[in-house]
Amino acid sequence: MSNPETSTIPLVTDDETNVIRIENLHKAFGEHEVLSGVNAEVKLGQVVCVIGPSGSGKSTLLRCLNGLESITSGEIWLGGFNLADQDIDLNEVRKHVGMVFQHFNLFPNMTVLENITLAPIQVKKYSQKRARDEGIELLRRVGLEDKADARPDSLSGGQKQRVAIARALAMNPEIMLFDEATSALDPEMVGEVLGVIRSLADDGMTMVLVTHEMGFAREVADRVAFIDSGVIQEAGPPEQIFGNPESERLKDFLSKVL
Ligand code: ADP
Ligand code: MG
Repeated sequence: MSNPETSTIPLVTDDETNVIRIENLHKAFGEHEVLSGVNAEVKLGQVVCVIGPSGSGKSTLLRCLNGLESITSGEIWLGGFNLADQDIDLNEVRKHVGMVFQHFNLFPNMTVLENITLAPIQVKKYSQKRARDEGIELLRRVGLEDKADARPDSLSGGQKQRVAIARALAMNPEIMLFDEATSALDPEMVGEVLGVIRSLADDGMTMVLVTHEMGFAREVADRVAFIDSGVIQEAGPPEQIFGNPESERLKDFLSKVL
């Protein structure tokens, strides 16, 4: 029998270690320029945390990275895919990039397991059995194997977010994007979600995290990028960004959040 599953071309080949390369990215909504020349690289297995004030363009940057927002000018390369290319197949790109949002965005009328298996069945053409088996395994990984048949509204915020992470992982992405994944959670639930993200980092997942959790960024990030006024003002290892910030803007920002 032929294999009905769609194959996905890997994002990066052996001789290319930049999974993400952003070159002079500009993004405007009408007259309002939100990103004004962002340059960045993310290497295979790196964890990059993006910090910065509210309204500085963090979410817009992440949304550009998986094609949820079009690019005004500049380039974003995900491996060999150029998101600035008008003819690019965004569905193909999104097979490589998982995204987790602040507000979970689970489908309320489906069970937890159905939330997780939907895209693998529809997009990757997995059999029901393969999708379910892998879905259960992912639920085990996020500590929720007993919730497979539950409805999302019966779960706590922390559990919902862990399901959302499992759902994103079900597509076997090579990049995971997190947009303030813990900001909507009650404080006692933040730790369980950060724990799952930390385990992904330990497994070598390439990740870009927008976060207000400075302690977590300091601990888990390989690099931290501080964005303000639509550009990356300063980037470097966490010890440098938090311990020895250079720009006045970053010092000012840290004085308010630390
Ligand atoms: P952050 O995530 O850093 O808080 P955002 O990327 O959400 O910032 O927003 C940056 C700026 O872009 C804000 O001024 C916001 O109002 C504006 N913006 C974001 N999305 C849109 C949109 N779809 N249409 C118009 N303006 C937008
Ligand atoms: Mg945001």
